[in-house]
Amino acid sequence: MPDPILNLKGVTKTFGGLTAVDDVSFSVQRGEIFGVAGPNGSGKSTLFNCITGIPFGPTGGEVTFKGVRIDGQRPHKIFRAGLARTFQKDAEFPDLSARETVALGGHYGASIRGSASNDATEKALDTVEFDNTRRDMKTADLSIYGKKQLMIASALVAAPDILMLDEPASGLTRPEIAALDALLLKVNQTGVTILIIEHVLGLLLSVSQRLLLLNNGAVLTEGLPEDVIRDPRVVEAYLGGAAA
Ligand code: ADP
Ligand code: MG
Repeated sequence: MPDPILNLKGVTKTFGGLTAVDDVSFSVQRGEIFGVAGPNGSGKSTLFNCITGIPFGPTGGEVTFKGVRIDGQRPHKIFRAGLARTFQKDAEFPDLSARETVALGGHYGASIRGSASNDATEKALDTVEFDNTRRDMKTADLSIYGKKQLMIASALVAAPDILMLDEPASGLTRPEIAALDALLLKVNQTGVTILIIEHVLGLLLSVSQRLLLLNNGAVLTEGLPEDVIRDPRVVEAYLGGAAA
């Protein structure tokens, strides 16, 4: 029985003459892990920006979250409604400890979600399996994977309905990707819907229940991961992307 938590209809984002996201429509079902793939520059991050309003919403189309239109809403309202994202770049506050970084996310999001910020912070750090030493470490001193875990904890502290991840596997070793895979499945099993962007297909194929492929800002195809990667147009889009 379909139960869409997020619905996009004709979402478009233009920058001057460039159409970075071109008439994109899809639905994410409550509880699933939904993957978005595509070559570099295909509009994946811009699509996330359009959904979360950070730093901007779409120039056209509709985004509906839990039955409410959110395109055009302020980013903090969208976040507090239960839609949290991570970014491609590293965590923002190199001098703060891991615990302080997650607590900041908690102060931003927890007031409306009703959780006590300290408890929520510790719980989010438990989820990403940070021990006490790492909780007190400066963000700048964490490993690449540690920073990714911290970004995920900073999003989870607000108890989101949807966790959106922008290329979380980039820069990670194979064992770290396997650990990330297990972490995402664990988070999903607690009832969090996950929307994940990856340029590298391995992680996406292993965690996603459905996969959408973007090319030049538009939806090339969408379906079960095993069907999507066999689509000759997908092979062409990736190989056509030269160094990709
Ligand atoms: P991906 O995340 O798939 O690599 P992006 O969404 O970052 O792709 O970029 C899609 C296209 O939009 C690219 O051509 C990029 O140069 C362009 N673009 C992204 N952000 C901006 C911006 N703020 N201003 C102008 N062009 C942008
Ligand atoms: Mg990107």
